[in-house]
Amino acid sequence: MRIFEELAKGDTTIAAYISIHNMVTWMLDSFGDDAQRAEWIPRLASMEVLGSYCLTEPGAGSDAAAISTKAIRDGGDYVLDGVKQFISGAGTSGIYIVMARTADTGGRGISAFLVPAETPGLSFGPLEKKMGWHAQPTRQVIFDGVRIPASNLLAHEGDGFGIAMSGLNGGRLNMGACSLGGGQAALDKTVDYLKERTAFGGPLINQQALLFQLADMDTELESARTLLARAADALDNGDADMVRLCAMAKRVATDAGFNVANAALQLHGGYGYLADYGIERIVRDLRVHQILEGTNEIMRLIVGRSIAGA
Ligand SMILES: Cc1cc2nc3c(=O)[nH]c(=O)nc-3n(C[C@H](O)[C@H](O)[C@H](O)COP(=O)(O)OP(=O)(O)OC[C@H]3O[C@@H](n4cnc5c(N)ncnc54)[C@H](O)[C@@H]3O)c2cc1C
Repeated sequence: MRIFEELAKGDTTIAAYISIHNMVTWMLDSFGDDAQRAEWIPRLASMEVLGSYCLTEPGAGSDAAAISTKAIRDGGDYVLDGVKQFISGAGTSGIYIVMARTADTGGRGISAFLVPAETPGLSFGPLEKKMGWHAQPTRQVIFDGVRIPASNLLAHEGDGFGIAMSGLNGGRLNMGACSLGGGQAALDKTVDYLKERTAFGGPLINQQALLFQLADMDTELESARTLLARAADALDNGDADMVRLCAMAKRVATDAGFNVANAALQLHGGYGYLADYGIERIVRDLRVHQILEGTNEIMRLIVGRSIAGA
């Protein structure tokens, strides 16, 4: 997790891109059989091949159990039809973990499949034009009669939703860590800037109002970092409340990173709005962390349901 914070200080988008690849690698390593692991893990671990996570669809985002992409068993194969939306790395990745419906029984009817990039019938939409995250491709992934051997099923039929959700626990922590790295980089730049920038007879850093704001930004990041570490510890130990803690930490860290970066832009005055100063890009790139791997409203839903015992 800490490595993603460090990476994100240099480039938040590349760090987040690697975080998603890391989640896919973890899922394959955790739920794949020996043959699947032997085929893919060495190349995924070396990043010779990148992996994508295909859950979201045009008609099913937050309500992920409502996906409609189908995988129909046909002899020794499965045939996949449907469309995945907003897939990070689509068109560049070598392997796609695809959640698809093998039965009409809600979340329990979803299975996970390994689909290599070169499989006939697999195609990609045009690059999405985005507010940020320009350093990584986002496209639709389209399945038109994609035939894969049954040996590409990950674990068992019906395990797909659980696999998809368990990948997201660690994914959310790493995305939170990327937000902290971006927020920290923006704060560090701001401290340097306020030491150099003079107004009203001295450096702006001497204005107590601004110092208080820097103190709040620092405190927000440190609080989020502490919660992230607590959630990571729970995840490592398989604690009963790990899902709740990972959701809390994702919400807090991605909000903190974005809010700190946005405040850093304000503290740079007009220069914060210029691309040359590197702050506006951090703001644009961090905004999506509050949306993907479960929106921050869905994080509240997970925590709220856990409090209510639902
Ligand atoms: C750049 C980018 C990259 C992405 N990469 C991937 C990827 O690699 N793989 C992948 O599978 N997906 C990916 N996503 C998809 C992302 O996870 C979804 O966009 C996200 O889960 C939200 O789904 P949605 O966009 O359909 O919004 P909706 O589910 O339609 O939600 C719309 C709004 O309603 C709110 N909302 C929905 N339901 C509730 C509720 N019950 N209570 C309260 N509020 C609610 C949401 O929080 C949101 O604010 C990516 C998205 C983006 C933008």
